[in-house]
Amino acid sequence: MKNGRVLITDDERSLLEILDQFLSKKGYTVSCADCAEEAVELIDRDEFDVALIDLKLPDRSGIDIVRHLRDKQPRTRCIIMTAYASVESSIEALRLNTFDYVRKPFDLVKIGEVVDAAYGYMMLQDQNSRIIDKLEKANKRLEKRKNDLSRKIMRTNEELARANESLKNHVTRLKMLYQMGRDISSDENWSDALDRFLMALCKYLDAEGAALLLFSDSGKTLNVRTTYQLEEEFLTSTLETLRDAHGRDLTPSEIFSLESYDGERIFSCLEMRRKWRENIIPLIYKGRWLGFLLVRKVYHSRLSYLSDYHFLNTIQTILSEEVANAVTISKLRNLKNFNETILNNINSGVLTTDRDGRIIFLNNRARDLVPDSLEQLHFDDLFVNPFGSGSLFEHLIGSDKPNGSVEVVLSKGDFSVPVRLNTSVVELDDYHGKTLIAIFDDLTEQKRMEEELRRADRLRSLGELSAGVAHEIRNPLTGIATTAQVLREKLADEKDKIKYLTVILDEINRLDGIIKNLLLFAKPQTPNPTKGSISEVLNEVVALLSEKALEHRVRVSIENTLEDDQCIIDRGQIKQVVLNIALNGIEACNEGGNVAIVLGEGEEPSFIRVMVEDSGRGIPAELEDRLYNPFFTTKSNGTGLGLSISRKIVEAHGGRLYHESVEGKGTKFFVEIPRKMAAAVSGNVSSQ
Ligand code: ADP
Repeated sequence: MKNGRVLITDDERSLLEILDQFLSKKGYTVSCADCAEEAVELIDRDEFDVALIDLKLPDRSGIDIVRHLRDKQPRTRCIIMTAYASVESSIEALRLNTFDYVRKPFDLVKIGEVVDAAYGYMMLQDQNSRIIDKLEKANKRLEKRKNDLSRKIMRTNEELARANESLKNHVTRLKMLYQMGRDISSDENWSDALDRFLMALCKYLDAEGAALLLFSDSGKTLNVRTTYQLEEEFLTSTLETLRDAHGRDLTPSEIFSLESYDGERIFSCLEMRRKWRENIIPLIYKGRWLGFLLVRKVYHSRLSYLSDYHFLNTIQTILSEEVANAVTISKLRNLKNFNETILNNINSGVLTTDRDGRIIFLNNRARDLVPDSLEQLHFDDLFVNPFGSGSLFEHLIGSDKPNGSVEVVLSKGDFSVPVRLNTSVVELDDYHGKTLIAIFDDLTEQKRMEEELRRADRLRSLGELSAGVAHEIRNPLTGIATTAQVLREKLADEKDKIKYLTVILDEINRLDGIIKNLLLFAKPQTPNPTKGSISEVLNEVVALLSEKALEHRVRVSIENTLEDDQCIIDRGQIKQVVLNIALNGIEACNEGGNVAIVLGEGEEPSFIRVMVEDSGRGIPAELEDRLYNPFFTTKSNGTGLGLSISRKIVEAHGGRLYHESVEGKGTKFFVEIPRKMAAAVSGNVSSQ
């Protein structure tokens, strides 16, 4: 059943009634008008869904009603009914957007369908407009939401940008703090690290300048450690102010303003009421005053200061720790350097190993003794185990006694030296385990001296024995000589016999010479130093050699490279030494050989050196050890006393006699003696 409202306008009453009944039956609420005027009245009074309008009415055209309806009730669907319609009226009806056009006469079913369709169409349109309405409202809500949302997004974006900015700030801070921590405590060059820190701090805080003022080790004096963009004059007065305030126990541990100090009180920055510029950040670590960080930045109020407050507080904590660390590290570094300097300057070799015996430290002296590089060196690679074939390191580290001393041979490739090895086993901690500290001394010189002593001892007994024998021989020899001389006088006429006596006397002379040498060797005369030119002495030697040189056809030369050849020596004894050596040189040469005597500076300062070089046969290596022994000779008529007596004389002068020889090429003997004999320096010296 429909309940739409229908207006029927027709001047035919019967038709009105039929339609009224028919449509009412269909469920419509029907209003009828038999003229246009009545229809207009009804339209003005009620609302209609569908209007059936006869085009030809007695008072007016149905088109007028359509127009009226369109003005008053635009949603009403109009259906035009007519028996004869003009083309114009039809066009006009269409133009006014009438729903349908029904020709009279019509059947009721058809008109019922048209009314239903109009009503249905109207309802549909109603529904549509409701939906559109709803849609529009929904759309508006959506639009509003969209606007709200974009406002929110904008706000969130702004917040995000702010958060980003503050994050960036925090990251910069963290980076700076991290760098500060890392740099200050690890950087070898602390000053550079501090410079970088002050610069970064000022940049970050937008401060005008900064300085780090530190107390000395004793905590008594306050000094500028490093500064950035602050004038010297200002720093000097700041130091004075701070020293004064600190001396009076007025400096608080809070960050304070330097300007607030009036000689009696200091205000922390949080207490400040007016503008200030010099901010002092006290640096204290574990109750110990380290110094102050001075930051020059203008704060107009406590509020403006609060934005930096937390950061400055963090700086205060971290910088205090870092400065304390750096001070400790630099003290440790100094201590380490000091220890290393000591270790490197002692005359013994020092080495330490790790738990496995690998060498981890060698001092300078040890490096001198160990020619190779440190890498991969093991303790056992260096020292020959005197206890057997096993590892010396294991032996020492496993010993019950923590300290040991043993004589071993330090050997590295072809190189070997006897050393005294003093070892200590130290257990530093669980991680490092037991390590070995070894101190060793080269015994080469000591061994040489021991050998020398033994030799001197042997020589002394030999000398004593020789002196006794020489003495005993001399008496009978004098008897033989005197008797031979008497006989020669008596047999002056018997020339053939005198010949034999002369041989006897010559041999006695030779024997006497040997005895003299023996006595000289056994009891050498103490040198009698006199001042004079040593080249003169050498010239005398050359003169004495001339006959012998001629005999052997050997050329003897002399060269003096000394600027000043004045010496205080026993000239007679030194002449004998050079003579002995040069004679040996001539004898060692073949015909046409050379013996050169060269006078020059000694290896040690204030020593002179006489080198006697020959181009002779050289000395075989196997004879080297015995060369200076008394009675060692390779000559048929030699005494073997020349070199031993010479060495004694040279040593009595405080010098040394040594040689270098290449077999088949020649030999160089070196006489090195002090320019001024030590014994002569204090005593009286007679001048030549
Ligand atoms: P002597 O000359 O009576 O043999 P020395 O003590 O002077 O006694 O010399 C000992 C030995 O040293 C000599 O016999 C000789 O074998 C050797 N000697 C010394 N000087 C030289 C030299 N310049 N060249 C080679 N051998 C030398």
